[in-house]
Amino acid sequence: MPSAPLILVLNAGSSSLKLAAFSGDRLVLRAGVERTNQTPDQRRLWIVDPEGQTIEHGPVPTIDSSSLLQAVIDTLVTLCPGQRITAVGHRVVHGGDRFTAPVRVTPEVLVELESLTPLAPLHQPHNVGEIRTALRILPDVPQVACFDTAFHATMPWQERMLGLPRKYYQQGVKRYGFHGLSYESIASRLPAIDPRAAVGRTVVCHLGSGASLCAMSGGKSIATTMSFTPLDGLLMSTRAGAIDAGVILHLLRNEQLSPDQIEHLLDRESGLLGVSGISSDLRDLLASPAPEAAEAVDLFCYRVVRDIGAMTAALGGLDAIVFTAGIGENSPDVRERVCIQLAWLGIEFDSAANLAGSVTLHSQHSRVSVLRIQTDEEAVIARQTANALVD
Ligand code: ADP
Repeated sequence: MPSAPLILVLNAGSSSLKLAAFSGDRLVLRAGVERTNQTPDQRRLWIVDPEGQTIEHGPVPTIDSSSLLQAVIDTLVTLCPGQRITAVGHRVVHGGDRFTAPVRVTPEVLVELESLTPLAPLHQPHNVGEIRTALRILPDVPQVACFDTAFHATMPWQERMLGLPRKYYQQGVKRYGFHGLSYESIASRLPAIDPRAAVGRTVVCHLGSGASLCAMSGGKSIATTMSFTPLDGLLMSTRAGAIDAGVILHLLRNEQLSPDQIEHLLDRESGLLGVSGISSDLRDLLASPAPEAAEAVDLFCYRVVRDIGAMTAALGGLDAIVFTAGIGENSPDVRERVCIQLAWLGIEFDSAANLAGSVTLHSQHSRVSVLRIQTDEEAVIARQTANALVD
């Protein structure tokens, strides 16, 4: 029997680079390198098998993805002898107006993706860079771009439109939404975990370095907190989230900051880092005795609570809340704080299940389900890549 084709997946986040290999639907390995807040001698490349057992772990001198990609290709030769890599799927943060479905990468597509960099300056350059690297190392293998914006193509016009003169909407200045690959991963798992949440009104909280909420009705996005760029919405690790546009005018006029300086301030110096003045990592803040650290965590949770209220209003009620991504999956503290503040919505929270890291975090008579589900953006990209090559 011929073996299933191998698909490589590259997922460049704002603070990490992850890679996975799938043989058909079966995960073969995961690999990654941590990108930020680390000096080169602290950076570690890791490759693990599907059970999480280490295959390789060691220092990497650069954050260039080519060393990671090459290491993974070398490992695959041993793990899957005789199997050919048939496609590489890439997470691309911004698809703009044109890309609302996965697309095979051509030189023309690549130029268009690059032109979207101003809309996602933290991510898009990494995404496009990774496509170029993969094209260099595997020139004959088809590459597919899968978009974080695409899942939100189902949002109604009220959710897309900013209150600006209409001509800007026509120029593409509108609310797009992000983290779509993660939301698709959750939507695809909901029917098996909680059928009522799958067909009902569910708010998914993707809380990682970047953080956003998605209001899903029957598994489709109808509202989200990020908008024109991934800067909007919740407080994040280093991003300010939603901010009065008047603040930007103030910084331009009265503080004489340049647009680049303002971008740096809002993208990299704000959020948990800016408010605490200590760290962008929630783990450091939870461990810190400093009052500023506690305030930053409180503000993070408050903004989640506040925006779950807005998502609930957009949905006309609430059947389920899902926590996912680095913070959502791993911080019982944040999940508990958020759910306790939302008790009025009919949430009966099960603290013991929360501490145990269960999937179901609500008690039996809770009107609203609370779930903790691991997101798997890489599996979604692999599926979309395989489908794009068949279409
Ligand atoms: P990215 O957006 O880069 O993909 P992740 O989804 O990997 O980010 O989330 C990274 C964040 O998750 C880190 O900033 C860290 O604050 C948080 N995190 C990871 N593990 C824990 C934990 N055990 N407790 C609290 N926060 C955690």
